[in-house]
Amino acid sequence: MQIFDDMSRYGYEQLALFTDPAAGLKAIVAIHDTTLGPACGGVRIWPYATEAEAVQDALRLSRAMTYKSATADLALGGGKGVIIADPYDGQKSEALLRAYGRAVDALGGRYITTTDVGSTGRDLEYISQETDYVVGLPLSRGGSGDTSIMTGLGVYMGMKACAKEAWGSDSLRGKRVAMQGFGKVAYQTAQHLLQEDAQIVATDVHPEALEKARGLGIKTVAPEQIYTVDSDLFSPCALGGTLNGDTIPRLTCRIVAGGANNQLLTDAAGEELHRRGILYAPDYVINAGGVINVSAEVGMDYSPDLAREKTERIYEIMERVIATARDEEIPTAQAADRLAEQRLAAVRGIKNLYRAR
Ligand code: NAD
Repeated sequence: MQIFDDMSRYGYEQLALFTDPAAGLKAIVAIHDTTLGPACGGVRIWPYATEAEAVQDALRLSRAMTYKSATADLALGGGKGVIIADPYDGQKSEALLRAYGRAVDALGGRYITTTDVGSTGRDLEYISQETDYVVGLPLSRGGSGDTSIMTGLGVYMGMKACAKEAWGSDSLRGKRVAMQGFGKVAYQTAQHLLQEDAQIVATDVHPEALEKARGLGIKTVAPEQIYTVDSDLFSPCALGGTLNGDTIPRLTCRIVAGGANNQLLTDAAGEELHRRGILYAPDYVINAGGVINVSAEVGMDYSPDLAREKTERIYEIMERVIATARDEEIPTAQAADRLAEQRLAAVRGIKNLYRAR
């Protein structure tokens, strides 16, 4: 693994490793870029097969957070925590979480942690006993609570901005939406869509999720059918990588807009959607509601109004991405990256002036 080469190629600032053998802690914190503010991102707790895999994941995910926060107009940089442990077999103890909290604290506020795969609001309660640099605690603890509510709202706003571009009106009334995965984010997005009388078809691999969809009057299909059902809008809300050379040719929709992270298996998938005239809402642009929600508790008491207002702005941000893609004749995924990079470069520029502290 060429760590320093990789770090300098993609502009990483810091990679910190922490260990506490008594607590069983093996943790990595990757800080990609703090131009816009302290690095923020969740802690992933996962039994990685190798340490190299864990490091690569921390690096990749922290960079994605830089782009997500930059595009969402947040005063946050990109970071990510990784703990090498199985979250489901008793390895996630109080000692482990508090040891991780002390590691985060040792970074002195350069990195703010929150939840991700394998970590929960309850885990954050232990972490918060050792550090103040934690957001996303349960509402009962003064935190911002369940992130999927704002994530769902943001996905819906992104869908509407795309609808305006594709059909000249942002109304989703009567539009056929195919939802892949019916977990927390899809459920929240569906609430908005149903209110607007959109017609949803959903799929999931878990029977309870399908039951939840049917309970809302939503038609369900088998997982493989979701690509080919007649739809105006395809919404990936499960795992990453589902837009690829095999699935894209089967899509019948005009728009792809969903909540899942890393939807494009490769950059070529973004180009292929563009070539086929399918309008793609870049995942990190429209699923930023979760980080927007936690940002509304950084350095202040959580403000749900601020979180909602900033999440609603995803509509305008998506419009800007579409306009950039059109003007520069590039896929929307590239346009989003370009907007994030422009903001980072502009803010980096103002830091030349010396300030006595
Ligand atoms: P979740 O676990 O509640 O829901 C995911 C659902 O997808 C589950 O019901 C699962 O059974 C289903 N699924 C898994 N594989 C599938 C497949 N092959 N076909 C169909 N369904 C499948 O998770 P969530 O919080 O709703 O997150 C969904 C996605 O959105 C993830 O990619 C997550 O990283 C991303 N995301 C979530 C948030 C948030 O606030 N929760 C924020 C940003 C991004």
